[in-house]
Amino acid sequence: MLPYGRQAIDDDDVAAVVAALRSDWLTTGPAVDAFEAAVSAHAGGGEVVSVTSGTAALHVAYAATGVGPGDEVVTSPLTFVATAATAVLQGATVVFADVEPDTGNLDVEAARAAITPRTRVVTAVDYAGLPAEPEAFAALAREHGLHYVADAAHSIGSTWGGRPVGSFADLTTMSFFPTKNITTGEGGAVVSADPELAGRARRFHNHGLVRDPAAQRWPDEGPWHQEVHELGLNYRLPDVLAALGTAQLRRLDAFKARRTELHARYDAGLADVPGVRTPAHRDQADPMWHLYPLRVLEGRRREVFDALRAAGIGVQVNYIPAYWHPAFADRGYRRGLCPNAEEYYRQEISLPLFPGLADDDVDRVIEVIRRTVGDR
Ligand SMILES: *Cc1c(COP(=O)(O)O)cnc(C)c1O
Repeated sequence: MLPYGRQAIDDDDVAAVVAALRSDWLTTGPAVDAFEAAVSAHAGGGEVVSVTSGTAALHVAYAATGVGPGDEVVTSPLTFVATAATAVLQGATVVFADVEPDTGNLDVEAARAAITPRTRVVTAVDYAGLPAEPEAFAALAREHGLHYVADAAHSIGSTWGGRPVGSFADLTTMSFFPTKNITTGEGGAVVSADPELAGRARRFHNHGLVRDPAAQRWPDEGPWHQEVHELGLNYRLPDVLAALGTAQLRRLDAFKARRTELHARYDAGLADVPGVRTPAHRDQADPMWHLYPLRVLEGRRREVFDALRAAGIGVQVNYIPAYWHPAFADRGYRRGLCPNAEEYYRQEISLPLFPGLADDDVDRVIEVIRRTVGDR
């Protein structure tokens, strides 16, 4: 089965991991510092806190904003459930606002309309790798005194107006799951140029420990002393995985170039196929495409999905609207809330897209789609 996403691991990656295994540090050592510096260099220069997953990154980001019971977080339903779930786990109420019909990204005006006096955070998601109007969301957050969180699980390597993802939001979160743009197996990162937010994120990812005597309540306790002011968790990324991440980042540009080629090949091969819609672009964006989200119109998504799966092509659907999950339905969220996101979900198929994908594979995928929708 041809997968829809797959890691690209080479001998340099293997050597980097082996070197970390043979070093004095399996975790919380120099490979973590090096990886955080390397991510920062690709994300606009903010402080980077590496964590154990993209989900952990979101949890850390929400904790850093201080959202809790009584506060509202406005976000997109067209995302992996973790974007919303981690806010709920912090005690906040999630308010879903609808997406742009063409890109699937959170609509700025829909987000604005969802703001109430209780809103503390707006979280946009760079769906498929296309940055979600980062300048407009930064302005919206400024206007209303909100924290702007960007879920960039799909979009490390993307730019908007020439500036990299990671340089716009108060807190940007990344995922390094194997299907994402680079991988550490499991892993993630939080990026923030605000020292206060970055400090809170760093403490939360490490039990809330305060090591700086100047910041401690009882600094005279002794040289061993560290203390916890606000509770946190252990979300530390091990050196073994950070070493893999640094090696992967050296090929970020090559990965992006190949993803761009493959995306363009799908665009060219599918542009004239009736009943399908290729992904929308934005002039300001130079995306590192994580997904190729094809839209199949006229209610034929399932038919095309089944034909591709039957041909050994492991397509996926991204995503069921987050509030359709029973956990949200049980909290009173009703279908119909965000019609654009629901329509997008009903039409979407993620075609295979990863650096190791061959041109012939793309052509075969296109051929199956052509045959299926041309059939009737
Ligand atoms: C993958 C993903 C996450 C979660 O990342 P993990 O590393 O799998 O925990 C969050 N948000 C989006 C949009 C994602 O695609």
